Amino acid sequence: MASVIAAIDQGTTSTRCMLFDHDGKVVAVGQKEHQQIFPRAGWVEHDAEEIWSNTREVVGQALGKGNVSSGDIAAVGITNQRETAVVWDRTTGKPVCNAIVWQDTRTDRTVRELGDLGGGAERYKDRVGLPLATYFAGPKVKWILDNVDGARDRAEAGDLLMGTIETWLIWNMTGGVDGGLHITDVSNASRTMLMDYRSLSWDEDIAAEMTIPVSMLPRIVSNSEVYGKARAQGLLAGVPIAGSLGDQQAATFGQVCFTKGMAKNTYGTGNFMLLNTGEEAVPSKNGLLTTLCYQIGDRKPVYALEGSIAVTGSLVQWVRDNLRMIGGAGEIEAVARSVEDNGGAYFVPAFSGLFAPHWRSDARGAIVGLTRYVNRGHLARAVLEATAYQTREVLEAMNADSGVDLTELRVDGGMIANELLMQFQADVLGVPVVRPKIAETTALGAAYAAGLAVGFWADEDELTAQWAEDKRWEPAMDRAQADRYYRKWGKAVQRTLDWVD
Ligand code: ADP
Repeated sequence: MASVIAAIDQGTTSTRCMLFDHDGKVVAVGQKEHQQIFPRAGWVEHDAEEIWSNTREVVGQALGKGNVSSGDIAAVGITNQRETAVVWDRTTGKPVCNAIVWQDTRTDRTVRELGDLGGGAERYKDRVGLPLATYFAGPKVKWILDNVDGARDRAEAGDLLMGTIETWLIWNMTGGVDGGLHITDVSNASRTMLMDYRSLSWDEDIAAEMTIPVSMLPRIVSNSEVYGKARAQGLLAGVPIAGSLGDQQAATFGQVCFTKGMAKNTYGTGNFMLLNTGEEAVPSKNGLLTTLCYQIGDRKPVYALEGSIAVTGSLVQWVRDNLRMIGGAGEIEAVARSVEDNGGAYFVPAFSGLFAPHWRSDARGAIVGLTRYVNRGHLARAVLEATAYQTREVLEAMNADSGVDLTELRVDGGMIANELLMQFQADVLGVPVVRPKIAETTALGAAYAAGLAVGFWADEDELTAQWAEDKRWEPAMDRAQADRYYRKWGKAVQRTLDWVD
């Protein structure tokens, strides 16, 4: 009797494999970071082959630590950094260039030119739910076809495949050049700008405008069904691959936000708040994305409104690596606690432009409000507060779009270890912030989706019963004070706009 579900969580900074038991408890974890490649200002790349090799390694680590073999694994679920685009040759299995990561802004001109065809940033919004922005995968694929030598000819000859990271991993896991499955799930497909969110099929007109041959596109599947089996030679030999969700949708699933009106906010490299809007896709008037939340097998799809923030935890990495102000991400809390407040400093980390709710690729980062008084502690505060203010911008947009005020916020992700940030978040929002007992919600969500498909768990009610609260931060700050901080933040944001000529 298979006793665990394996989840592969291919994130922006690292790849993890986690084994979960029937209670949703973590049995074993393997993890490895991969290289972040910054060839030029605004460019961010990953080596897709390194990611595939790390995936095999972390699966090996987890199986070793858990003393588990493929026979003990009921199914595998996959979750991944979204929008990161890979193009590879179906006959050699080799990517034609590095993967272009979601944070990369090189398609700035491409998206402006597409908007200039008419409709501006809203050109495809009523079909795909997304504004034209550098964030999404489709324009990145166009960039590769336009700029990598010979790529367009090979694509038109039918030799090249495209995909986001889950597509790349599943293709490799199921046999690669020897008949690997070329599929993408609805949540990932909804981030390409190429999928019609109502019909859940590729919009061939948009693909044509982006000059992407339809033959390169994977088949679209649900988030929870048996897609196929892992190839016989690997560690997971013969295990059904039965779940796939983009990381943010997986976290929403892992936080059991199965009913309309439930929301979660993930604090990782960036921040992503998703609100389940049920079977209705709600168009946003306030800078949010209309996106697939999840689809279980052949059931009706469930939609979400999403507020995506490009830079939150990665700002902490930046002050660690580029300023060397701290030795590790965990140190920032103690530095921030050395002072009472931000000393008047505000840090707007518009490193990839600004995402929700602004969608301004021409914004660039700024630290404002500096005086001779400001020290390292104040800057550390400003770094952490930036995450909290950006979250308030998104929450206000969410409340405006849905017409209902959120009464509490379920949180997860690496940054929620930071208690100072969590308290400040509750203070700035004026709503309680709640952390679940199982904080690994992204991997858990992928495990849940795979487990449901193979009957390891019966239904969503069984999963809902597993969710338990670990800690709650209640707002303690005077509301007028919180609003004053937030107003200042708004002024700081204004300083970062229109920076790119
Ligand atoms: P991802 O899944 O996007 O790779 P994680 O959820 O693993 O990200 O979170 C990692 C991020 O959290 C990093 O950007 C790191 O800087 C940040 N982080 C980790 N611990 C802390 C902490 N104690 N305080 C602030 N930020 C932290």
